[in-house]
Amino acid sequence: MNEEALFQRLVRLLLDYGQQQKEGPVVRYLEPEELGRLLELDKPAAGDWQQLLRWLELYLEHSVKTGNPGFLNRMWSGANLPSILAEMVVAASNTSACTYESAPVSTLMEHHMLDTMLGLVGFRDGEGQMNTGSSSANLVAMLAARNEALEQAKSDGLWQQQRLCAFVSADAHYSLDKAANVLGIGTSQLVKVPVDHRGRMDPAALEARLEERSRAGQRPFFVCATLGTTVRGAYDPVGAIAALRERYGFWLHGDGAWGGAVLLDEELRRRHLPDAALLDSFTWDFHKMPGSNLVCNMLLINGRRDALRCACSAGEHGYLFREEQETHALDLGVGSLQCARRVDSLKWFLDWKFFGREGLAARVRRYLALAEYAERRVAELPQLELVAPRESFNVCFRYRAPAGEEANAFNLALRHRLHRRGEALVGVGWIGDTLTLRLLITHPDFTEADVDRFLEKVVENGRALS
Ligand SMILES: *Cc1c(COP(=O)(O)O)cnc(C)c1O
Repeated sequence: MNEEALFQRLVRLLLDYGQQQKEGPVVRYLEPEELGRLLELDKPAAGDWQQLLRWLELYLEHSVKTGNPGFLNRMWSGANLPSILAEMVVAASNTSACTYESAPVSTLMEHHMLDTMLGLVGFRDGEGQMNTGSSSANLVAMLAARNEALEQAKSDGLWQQQRLCAFVSADAHYSLDKAANVLGIGTSQLVKVPVDHRGRMDPAALEARLEERSRAGQRPFFVCATLGTTVRGAYDPVGAIAALRERYGFWLHGDGAWGGAVLLDEELRRRHLPDAALLDSFTWDFHKMPGSNLVCNMLLINGRRDALRCACSAGEHGYLFREEQETHALDLGVGSLQCARRVDSLKWFLDWKFFGREGLAARVRRYLALAEYAERRVAELPQLELVAPRESFNVCFRYRAPAGEEANAFNLALRHRLHRRGEALVGVGWIGDTLTLRLLITHPDFTEADVDRFLEKVVENGRALS
């Protein structure tokens, strides 16, 4: 088969897939053994394009249809068409976005979008990098903060240094624990600050812990405010936390992986994240609410222009990064932990150009309106209940378990049933000891009728289980 015929077959497959996504089911679920048999993973296929196409077909057939209205599990749904086109071109042109030499267009687009996003957040004299998601952005932010707090950390490690400690809310993302592990801080030195009744970090509790650790001779070097928590969608109070920074001297990072999208809209920003410009760094996933292809992330740094290079560069005369080259200052790989860097700039650049800030802001407003609608409907349906009042985009609810049934186990079984039947895939989480179903709406075509259909399915399946 020649290349053109292959591409044509692929386009056909993708168009059919688009149709399947719309019509559902959300997944044709098979148990791993059964799917394994179907995939014939041992089958040889040297030079056999037909067999490769067959595997592509099977891949699509059994993938989770993330663009289906029943996909409500994660923080994205489907992907923007401009970013899909971008990903195809990125795959075909296959380069590494580490130097201007190897990726000239991407390098300029990434710098351009970094500047644009720095301006949007309200950071001045800043810098940034596209990263492999907010987990690694959180790690790099903590690394930059660590090395700023302890100048010797990069060269000497943490041996015989003042003991460091970092602070997050009890509802923060687990990637901060991973970062504390990787960076030698120690997971027990990542202090989990209690949240208030709305799921926001309690600044008085933070202050008490900062004081306690400082008195014990430790160095509080890093506080991460979660801006849109994973389960409840709560925003930690940046202003109140920033007010403690002068006294304790920590780096204030914002994890806006999910909730950063409010910055697109002035009104939502005022309501949820008015003090974004006070942060020292900020991470935001464009592959979540803004709908870019996975993964698409930026880590942005405020008021520093070489924190990333200081934290991440290695070796003075790397074979890739030659200081004598005129374009050296543009090389994004120097300030990155990666060597090969996937080109992520093209998809965000094209999405941004095509939809514009206002287009994306309208989308975010719509998601919020749909979350409000869903919350209202849950309150109206006698079989359902809200587990917590809605803070932003996350609707935490569950089925009222019938008498004699344990509510957590019942709702887990309900979720399992919805998934296995291919009707819906919805997130779960915990608020204290209470298991909650978590509805997140992140598909631009989702409507109130889709909310109703989904809740009806929950009710129907709950009845069937009762
Ligand atoms: C999604 C999320 C992360 C992890 O981001 P990845 O891009 O998946 O690595 C971290 N923090 C919060 C608050 C998130 O919602």
